[in-house]
Amino acid sequence: MAIRAHPPHAAQPVAGTPAVPEGLTLRGFFGVFRYSRRALELVWSTSRGLTLALAAFTLLAGVLPASVAYVGSLIVDAVVTAMRAGGAATRVVELVVLEGALVAAIAAAQRGLSLCQSLLRAQLGQRVNVMILEKALTLELAHFEDSEFYDKLTRARREASTRPLSLVTRTFGLTQNAISLASYAVLLARFSPWAVAVLLLAGVPAFIAEVKFSGDAFRLFRWRSPESRMQMYLETVIAREDHAKEVKLFGLGPRLLERYRAIFRRLYGEDRALAVRRDAWGFALGLIATAALYGAYAWIAVSTVRRLITLGQMTMYLALFRQGQAAVSAMLSAVGGMYEDNLYLSTLYEYLETPVPAPAGGAARGPDPADGIRFEDVSFSYPGADSAALEHVTLHLKPGGSLALVGENGSGKTTLIKLLTRLYAPTGGRIVLDGRDLGEWDEAALRERIGVIFQDFARYQMLVGENVGAGDARYFEDESRWRTAAEKGRASDFIATLPSGYRTQLGKWFRDGRELSGGQWQKVALSRAFMRTRADILVLDEPTAAMDAQAEAEVFEHFRQLAHDRITILISHRFSTVRMADQIAVLAGGRIVERGTHEELMRLNGRYAHLFTLQARGYR
Ligand code: ADP
Repeated sequence: MAIRAHPPHAAQPVAGTPAVPEGLTLRGFFGVFRYSRRALELVWSTSRGLTLALAAFTLLAGVLPASVAYVGSLIVDAVVTAMRAGGAATRVVELVVLEGALVAAIAAAQRGLSLCQSLLRAQLGQRVNVMILEKALTLELAHFEDSEFYDKLTRARREASTRPLSLVTRTFGLTQNAISLASYAVLLARFSPWAVAVLLLAGVPAFIAEVKFSGDAFRLFRWRSPESRMQMYLETVIAREDHAKEVKLFGLGPRLLERYRAIFRRLYGEDRALAVRRDAWGFALGLIATAALYGAYAWIAVSTVRRLITLGQMTMYLALFRQGQAAVSAMLSAVGGMYEDNLYLSTLYEYLETPVPAPAGGAARGPDPADGIRFEDVSFSYPGADSAALEHVTLHLKPGGSLALVGENGSGKTTLIKLLTRLYAPTGGRIVLDGRDLGEWDEAALRERIGVIFQDFARYQMLVGENVGAGDARYFEDESRWRTAAEKGRASDFIATLPSGYRTQLGKWFRDGRELSGGQWQKVALSRAFMRTRADILVLDEPTAAMDAQAEAEVFEHFRQLAHDRITILISHRFSTVRMADQIAVLAGGRIVERGTHEELMRLNGRYAHLFTLQARGYR
């Protein structure tokens, strides 16, 4: 499915998403923690051992710095005492050794933290990616065609490996710094509770500002996601191999690059405004913290001069104050990062929680297998489309019969096939297979019966044999079945000339990947249809357009012969093939305007006859 270049909702705020954290309110503040619990659950269920270790190291790394400051004060005092009394320095040396041991313990805790983090990161990244892909398997086609949804999917995938862990690490880091801060406060309170108040209050304005600006950035990023998506799309078009040919030949590159730049300029303008405000405020409020630090410095120094505290205590209180402020600013930057992580996790969970309709029916067969397919007054509109793609279509196809669909581009032929294969459900009327409503069929049983090759069939960058095998997941890797199917799909001849036969790698993404011609690809796709030996409904949606007329007619004839009691549906613009079908339906504007055999329609002398004659004249 191609990414639609112009999503209908471009440049509008993402609607219907859960409330975004507010700027300065209490809810805004707690918005920072909104997804922390879920991230923690995710990490916990990924590896309990590592999560516990992470928590333990966090705690250690939180408490130890204060004890170092405390031992430091004991050392200075012990030195002073020893100098005055002229005694031995054993106690001083013991304390220094203790402080060294504590510092080593801090280093160990920090190493432990980073080890746990890197192990968890790998596991968690894989886990989240698998969750995302598993969910993708349960989604409906309509989801992939919805630009907003597609956006969620790509954003969720892009940072899957880092964000959940980052949120947990930051939450833990916040806790760690809070623990440190609390332990500093306990020690500092012995000097004066007011000093503690100054330490904390000096950080509050900066903290509030950080919450507000991070919240703004968060909303900005969410809001602009259509633009970012367009940028990503342009990157793809400019730099991907499947677009490179056209972009080069049509000289589109500079034009597209200019669009890419224009988007950046617009986004950059907003970013710059926010960054300037953020940093200006950060500087101003940072001055308050500096003033508080030096105020406290003077206060502590004066108290020392007045012999209210010892020299050792002075060093300790100064260290506590300084480290306390460092802890406060570490908490500030954790909060900023947490908003970003929340942004990611909100997208991830919105995506993972996308409701998917429960599988509808469970029937594996219908009451009347000889009845075949019936379309009874079927109408259909695509989600969000103003006009119907199909209107009041009525058709009956008995086993053994073949149907050709004819009509201009956009007349609804492919849509009809999508409804038949239940990729979409009709918005009006019903489709009946073997006397049973299509909606009541078990999905797997239904898909087993139908083999479809769409005009935009997938070209897997895998082995050529696997490209054939893709027609039946059970025999995806079964070489003998590949061969049989490729014989029928007329692909075996050219596959034999490939360097490694059926085991030749296709596509440019991989080393030694071969590229096939359009017609060769179509033969591969046709062979794919022949893999479905059990399918009794075969649909060819113009997969033969790149073959010459002769080959297409042969393929169709081949299909018909194989299909004694199968139903074959063909979409083609070549009347030489179309005329071979038992029944021809002419579609225009989503309606069937003519229906019958070739002879009947020629006699009718209507649209079909006109188009047929037009094409026949071209060949004369
Ligand atoms: P055909 O196969 O006859 O060329 P389609 O069945 O593909 O025509 O398209 C019928 C109509 O439905 C067209 O007007 C087309 O624009 C619209 N349409 C096709 N696919 C989608 C889609 N995924 N979402 C919305 N509209 C679509």
